[in-house]
Amino acid sequence: MEGVAVVTGGASGIGAACCRALAAEGMRVAVLDLGDRAGAVAAEVGGRPYSADVSDEAALSACAETIEAEMGPVTVLVNNAGVLQPPLRPAALPMALWDEVVRVDQRGVWLGCVLFGRRMVERRRGSIVNIASIVSLRAVPLHAYGPAKAAVAAMTANLAAEWGPAGVRVNAVSPGFVETPALRTEVDAGRRDLSLIAGTKALGRTVRMEEVAQAVAFLAGDRASAITGVNLPVDCGWLAANGWAA
Ligand code: NAD
Repeated sequence: MEGVAVVTGGASGIGAACCRALAAEGMRVAVLDLGDRAGAVAAEVGGRPYSADVSDEAALSACAETIEAEMGPVTVLVNNAGVLQPPLRPAALPMALWDEVVRVDQRGVWLGCVLFGRRMVERRRGSIVNIASIVSLRAVPLHAYGPAKAAVAAMTANLAAEWGPAGVRVNAVSPGFVETPALRTEVDAGRRDLSLIAGTKALGRTVRMEEVAQAVAFLAGDRASAITGVNLPVDCGWLAANGWAA
């Protein structure tokens, strides 16, 4: 694969693994994250660090402009930046948390798609991979995160239909439970139990970040040239085994 790939939330976890996988396939990677977080991963993969809040339209638009001016046309976008939430009953979910999750996980993905995708449409070349979640496909007690991720899956299909005629593909990857810093925080705070998670899944383990990144790199590149509008689970069989126990 050649060209420029942008990975939002690329400083940590699944995003950092995506940066490594895309760089290993020959792409030049723009690592986009909050503040100065992107520097270390950008240096590691020989890419460039960029700073923007994905939910801030003006900041992300300016960042897209700068990336293309400094690195050239973006051919791959991975909308990965996101925040998790703990399981909570509906009445116990503060609206401030609901707003925060929807702001980053839904609005941020939409803005990424539109601000980078419109440039791809003009050039009639590009591929977008949105990071959703297994919770986009199954009812769970995550009443902000689940609907936000279902919206990501819906946006993916809608934009795939909209932009297919312009040669721009849009797909989603839905990871199962991946031991990233974000999930580790939930486990350490006692809000999730990984042994319960492992017990409910067909392969009986959590997903590795690199396994998500391999699926992202596949969908991003020409090996997936006939695939658009899909939401691919990478979940060690969690959906097949149908478990919500954590
Ligand atoms: P993580 O916290 O390790 O990494 C997320 C990165 O996104 C961080 O570097 C953070 O600084 C950045 N970020 C957060 N808000 C941002 C914003 N407004 N603008 C720019 N960057 C921002 O998390 P992770 O577990 O690697 O999650 C990555 C993605 O994968 C998220 O979309 C998450 O919902 C999804 N996901 C994670 C799991 C899991 O089990 N860890 C499962 C399914 C889906």
